[in-house]
Amino acid sequence: MPELPEVETVVRALNHSIKGRTFKDVIVYHKNIIEGNEKTFIAGIKNKTINAIKRRGKFLIFDLTGPNVMIAHLRMEGKFIPAKTIKDKTKYARIIFTFKDGSILNFDDSRCFGFLTLRDKKNYQNVLPLAKVGVEAIDPKLNVNQVYKMIHASKRNIKETLLDQSIVSGLGNIYVDETLFQAKISPLSKAYLLSKDDVKRILKCANTILHLAIKHNGTTVSTFYWEKGHTGGFQKYLKAYGRKGKPCVNCGSPLVKIKVGGRGTTYCPHCQKRKSDHYVIGITGPISVGKSTALKVFKDNGYLTYSSDEVVSRLYQKPLVKEKLNRLFKTNNKDQIRSLVSKSPAKLRALNHLLHPLVKEDLRMYLTTHQGNIAVEIPLLFQADFTDLVDETLLILSEQNTRFIKVRGAKASIQLQINAAATFKAYIRHATYLINNDASKAKFINQVKKIIH
Ligand SMILES: [Zn+2]
Repeated sequence: MPELPEVETVVRALNHSIKGRTFKDVIVYHKNIIEGNEKTFIAGIKNKTINAIKRRGKFLIFDLTGPNVMIAHLRMEGKFIPAKTIKDKTKYARIIFTFKDGSILNFDDSRCFGFLTLRDKKNYQNVLPLAKVGVEAIDPKLNVNQVYKMIHASKRNIKETLLDQSIVSGLGNIYVDETLFQAKISPLSKAYLLSKDDVKRILKCANTILHLAIKHNGTTVSTFYWEKGHTGGFQKYLKAYGRKGKPCVNCGSPLVKIKVGGRGTTYCPHCQKRKSDHYVIGITGPISVGKSTALKVFKDNGYLTYSSDEVVSRLYQKPLVKEKLNRLFKTNNKDQIRSLVSKSPAKLRALNHLLHPLVKEDLRMYLTTHQGNIAVEIPLLFQADFTDLVDETLLILSEQNTRFIKVRGAKASIQLQINAAATFKAYIRHATYLINNDASKAKFINQVKKIIH
C-alpha cells in the first residue's frame, strides 16, 4: 500500500504530466470506485481544467477550475496511469478520464478498493474524508505539544498510535518502523508513558525519514507508478523494515519481527527501549531444564512470578475447556492427556492450539493488572509466539538434560522430548539471554542472579 512518500511521488509525477489539461469526458467501467452520484461526478469533471494536483495525508486532491476538487485515494492497488490515446486503456482501468487534447488518464485498480469523489472547493478540508486526517508528520507548522497531548491520551502502544492517521497523518507501516528504529523506542511502548522529549524525537525522526523517502521517490513506488523500471530509491536506506534477522546497524544483534496490532513489525529489542509500567522477562527452554529453579531465583529477588504451567492446571478445571478436551481426547484428565500427547505430535498440536490462546489471554490480563518486575515461565515462548508480551527472554538449554532423558529409555514419548529440546536451538539468536545449564545448581543460580543485577 502506498504511504505518504509514495503518494507524494505520484502527485509530483502527475503535476509534471497532466497539470493544465482539460477534461473532455469520464468513462465509467466500475461505478463503485466513485463515491456519490455518478452523473453528478461526471458533470463536475467535464470541461474542467486541472490547476494543480496536491496531497493531504495519503489523499490526492485535484484542484480543478470551477467549484469542485476531486479527491482520490489509491488504497491497496489504485494507480493513475496517463496515456496518449484511448487505445492505451490499461488492463484494470475502472475509470478513464479523457482530455480535450485526445490523451487519457486511466484510474487502474485491480482490487477496486480505491475511490474518487468530488467536494466543494471552499470547505473540503473540513468535511470527510479529509476532516479526519491529522496534522502531517512533515508539516513545518506541526505543534509538538498538541501531538504529545493526543499521544499521551492514547491507551494503545506507540506503533498503533502512530498508524492512526487522525493523530499524525502520513506514517504507514514502513515509515513507523523506520521512525521508531531511529528514535530508539520500542513499538510496544505504551504511548501514554512516552515523555514529551520522546514524542519530540519521534516527530523529528519521522520528518527526516519522510523527507529522505520523498527525495528518493519512496520505497515501493514500482507497484503503483506508471513509468516502467521505476523503483523506490528509499529501499536502500531502510534500517528496520524488511530486515528481520539481519544485524542491527547500531548494535549488530539480529532484528526481530513481531506482530503489533496485527501488523508485521521489525525492530531491535536491544536499541529500542520499551517504555512500560512493568518489565517482563520470559523464561523458556525444554522440559526439566531448570526453568522453575530460575523462576524461584527471580521471585527471591523481588520479582512477581507467573507460571504458565499453573495457569494450564487452572484451565483444566474450567467447564468450557473440559468440554473441548473431552471432544478432542475423550477425556479431560490432565495426566491421561499428557500421556496421549507425548505419543502423538498431532495430538500435541491440537492441545497447544486449544491452550495457547487461553494462556496468552490470561497472561495479557495478568500484565494489565500487575506492575513492576515480572518473570514469566512459558515453555513454548518462541514456538507459540508469546514474544510480544515480554520485554526480554531467557532461554535455558542443557546438553546434560538431553542425555539424561536419553538414559531413561528409548520410548516414543522420550524421543519426542528429545526432538522438542532440539527445536529450542533454533531460537538461540532470538533470546536476550542464554544459559547452558550444564554445571552445578549453584553455578546455574549464580548465572540467573547475574541477569537480574
Ligand atoms: Zn540494535
